Amino acid sequence: MQIPRECMALWREAMGSECDALLACLEEAPPVSIRLHPQKGRVLPEYPILVSWCPTGRYLSERPSFTLDPHFHAGAYYVQEASSMFLAQLAPLFREQGVKRVLDVCAAPGGKAGLLAEMLPQDGILVANEVIRSRVGVLCENMAKWGYAHVAITNNDPKDFARMSHYFDAILVDAPCSGEGMFRKEPQAIQEWSPEAVQLCAQRQRRIVADVWEALRPGGYLIYSSCTFNRLENEENVAWMCSRLGASVRPVPIDSDWGIVEQEGCYRFLPHRVQGEGFFFALLQKNGEEPLSRHKPPGAKKAMPLNRQLAPSNWVQEYYSLFAKNELVKALPSALASEMLELEIFLRVVQSGVAVARLKGKDWIPEADLALSQVMRPDAFPAVELDLTTARRYLAREALVIKDAPLGYLLIQYQGSRLGFAKNIGSRINNLYPKSGRIRMDFPNLILPKHSLNLLVIGGLG
Ligand code: SAM
Repeated sequence: MQIPRECMALWREAMGSECDALLACLEEAPPVSIRLHPQKGRVLPEYPILVSWCPTGRYLSERPSFTLDPHFHAGAYYVQEASSMFLAQLAPLFREQGVKRVLDVCAAPGGKAGLLAEMLPQDGILVANEVIRSRVGVLCENMAKWGYAHVAITNNDPKDFARMSHYFDAILVDAPCSGEGMFRKEPQAIQEWSPEAVQLCAQRQRRIVADVWEALRPGGYLIYSSCTFNRLENEENVAWMCSRLGASVRPVPIDSDWGIVEQEGCYRFLPHRVQGEGFFFALLQKNGEEPLSRHKPPGAKKAMPLNRQLAPSNWVQEYYSLFAKNELVKALPSALASEMLELEIFLRVVQSGVAVARLKGKDWIPEADLALSQVMRPDAFPAVELDLTTARRYLAREALVIKDAPLGYLLIQYQGSRLGFAKNIGSRINNLYPKSGRIRMDFPNLILPKHSLNLLVIGGLG
């Protein structure tokens, strides 16, 4: 791998004698890892190799075709680089400190946002934001697969959050960066690298943190991470946050066996020391006294849920209320609904809660997101188990033939993983899988690679 000379100089400054071992390791294939959904992941087989710093992280021995695996579409797991799962180490801190309002300001495609959603208590709210409009769609898709209703997805510039003074208990800035830690996984990042790009990234990272700083309450946590090695975008930025914005670096518990390098109170993941890509992580705490009253956006007004007599009400669990926007009905946790709807006063909310149903003529049609969520009542629809080939055909939106299926809406499952809905109208079965998410592979003719036993099960290729 040809690393630019100026880049090597920055790496030597950041990592000294570690650089030679790092360079040798960059010639090797990157590890493949997934993060299991805490509830839905239970349908999957046991994976023997665990990611040390994330209880739901697992390594695979090779890369299967995830697109062909119905469990992937059901959100039973998310394909995520192992180092970046380190965020899971903050779960005990979140619990102890009562962290309930969290902003992920650079959220697409949503790997860390999914993890944050899991880490929050039932009365927590996650705002997952992505400034680049074209990247919001994939964030919405991934968060829908993860299925939590206490999440709002926004499309705002970081400076828009200044309006929400002291609202958040924690903010994650997983910064856009020069990507040096991803060179082996994404070699085009080497072509895009230049000393000027590093300078620009470092300035942009400071601007993002400064923009959201007002929205973080005193005593709240700023989590800063990047996937690059140079000091300008990492330790130097952290030092700037401490001195200019008023923050202190806080320790994160690590085990010495994990191979993570602690440097100036921050954490470096070096691919020759850990089974993962290059990653930088720092936990900071905003200086100042914690305010007495928290999480009260101004002008709180009570949201009016839909009548519980309405058909889709029978499809959702007690804990949720339904709200309508045009023909779409969504579910929000009842206790959080007013506050979540109020976010729309401050932010461009693209999606919040879980989409439950759409009104078409006089009919309520269940939304696929409902099937993927924790919101749905388990007995709301008769479930139909499909075999692997039929499940793939369903995901490709092909016509279905299911013997002895009851009439009406059907919950479509594969090995217990919920995929979406279909409707048996007697003469045929309508496939209701959304067009946007459908598999576009010509899978019947695909030559499938040989996989290990685990991959055979997860890929369902047997
Ligand atoms: N947190 C994501 C995850 O775990 O899946 C990955 C985030 S990626 C490292 C950085 C994100 O920052 C990208 O989605 C990018 O679109 C966004 N971004 C780019 N420029 C930005 C800016 N000026 N302000 C805020 N976010 C920006």
